[in-house]
Amino acid sequence: MGKISGFLEVNRQLPSKREVRERIKDYFEVEGSVDAALTLKQASRCMDCGIPFCHHGCPLGNIIPEFNDAVYQQNWKLAYEILSHTNNFPEFTGRICPAPCEASCVLGINKPAVTIEYIEKTIIEKAFEEGYISPNIPAHRTGKKIAIIGSGPAGLAAAAQLNSVGHDVTVFEKADEIGGLLRYGIPDFKLSKKILDRRIGLMAEEGIKFMTNTNVGADLSAETLTETFDAVLLCCGSSVPRDLPIEGRSLNGIHFAMNFLTQQNRRVSGKEIHEKEIWATDKNVIVIGGGDTGSDCVGTSNRQGASSVTQIEILSKPPKERNENTPWPNWPMILRTSTSHEEGCERHWSIVTKAFTSDGKGNVKSLRVAEIEWETNKASFKEISGSERDIPCELVLLALGFLSPQHQGLLNNLKVAYDDRGNIKCNRHQTSNEKIFAAGDARRGQSLVVWAISEGREAARAIDDYLMGSSLLAEKEKGALTLSPPII
Ligand SMILES: Cc1cc2nc3c(=O)[nH]c(=O)nc-3n(C[C@H](O)[C@H](O)[C@H](O)COP(=O)(O)OP(=O)(O)OC[C@H]3O[C@@H](n4cnc5c(N)ncnc54)[C@H](O)[C@@H]3O)c2cc1C
Ligand code: SF4
Repeated sequence: MGKISGFLEVNRQLPSKREVRERIKDYFEVEGSVDAALTLKQASRCMDCGIPFCHHGCPLGNIIPEFNDAVYQQNWKLAYEILSHTNNFPEFTGRICPAPCEASCVLGINKPAVTIEYIEKTIIEKAFEEGYISPNIPAHRTGKKIAIIGSGPAGLAAAAQLNSVGHDVTVFEKADEIGGLLRYGIPDFKLSKKILDRRIGLMAEEGIKFMTNTNVGADLSAETLTETFDAVLLCCGSSVPRDLPIEGRSLNGIHFAMNFLTQQNRRVSGKEIHEKEIWATDKNVIVIGGGDTGSDCVGTSNRQGASSVTQIEILSKPPKERNENTPWPNWPMILRTSTSHEEGCERHWSIVTKAFTSDGKGNVKSLRVAEIEWETNKASFKEISGSERDIPCELVLLALGFLSPQHQGLLNNLKVAYDDRGNIKCNRHQTSNEKIFAAGDARRGQSLVVWAISEGREAARAIDDYLMGSSLLAEKEKGALTLSPPII
């Protein structure tokens, strides 16, 4: 433990973010570069508890007090070694993880939690800066060939793990670039694509093959896949969006959030957009859905120069502080204000959407909504009479989550079974076909990057076991599954 009295002497502090008026003019990351001096002061707040609940809060089982101590001792190399033992991509989680570990930090019982996510980001950025990171090329090859379908965080984590034990890994991606939602979902102001490219470059040097523009199931048949490879891992994400089938849905100006966000990520990367462009510029924008995707639509709309941005949510407004329904160390359902919300947006909760109205020329003119009151059991609600009103809008973005992976094509051709939510059904990541495995949002349902990395690592271990009879890949600490947020 670094400093016995650190938690009594030092307050929680994060580096200041870029000013709102400056950052909404560009798509650079909202947070500036890391501050090592601040980080080691923050690491001194870790109490090295007897039972570190943060381990269990982190879906990866990150060994947090140990890396905090190494940081406090300014042993950045050791901190990096501890962190990279459980997490393949701390540069992603250190930027965009909602940090369930912090929600279960023991210090958080009566003081603000240790800044674990920020410490993680500093460790990995210091490791790159100091040259501690080099391609991890396996000493021998097993001759086993593995196909991974989908290059999001689940597919990438599995690829890194399987390659590290000498298997020959090919990652197939239908998009023109590797990264899944890290590339074409999450905006650059949260995660710069340079950070993603830096990691993909390393993985390519390690010997992982990346095949972009390859829609498996169409460009490459399911049969060829299973005949050519010793094992197949499905990491194709959860991509079927939840729709809002109310009156007026077919009017112009109503789009799924992902179409809007993907286009902007392509623009930032200087790529062409092949379909009709969606812009928020000079429009009154309504974002329907209060999660991460909705928040990303808010930040992107403001950067595009929207006249106004309104975000509505059917659920009731969460409390500011933890309540008795989510006691420590569970993930608390509290009001969260993202950096995009800070940039300007009207937020409304307990709102039901009734119809879109038209301007008479086929375009959306407003959204008809009403206020609701939830019953105490939260299972049903009633509309507040006289609360109906129209909110003017020229652009509506539907950020209502995702139902399941795409069944048509590859998954149906492979005849995988589905669970009752439509996700790929598995036993320890293995489907009913023993050669075929699944991980990430396609198996778990829409979730988080940290969960996708965890799933990819676990699936890699299951595949290695299947191919070799046992596995040398690190096993996740038992119990690291219960406290973190189910879905955000
Ligand atoms: C807008 C948005 C913002 C988010 N923000 C956050 C956040 O801030 N923090 C956080 O923790 N989580 C966030 N998430 C959730 C997180 O991005 C996902 O949980 C995570 O990316 C899932 O990883 P995955 O590897 O399972 O799938 P994905 O990242 O969805 O990747 C799946 C990949 O498979 C490819 N694919 C599918 N079918 C085929 C096929 N037949 N052939 C070839 N390739 C195929 C797809 O093109 C895609 O690239 C966000 C999600 C969205 C939509
Ligand atoms: S990956 Fe997320 S949950 Fe795990 S230690 Fe890092 S910030 Fe916390």
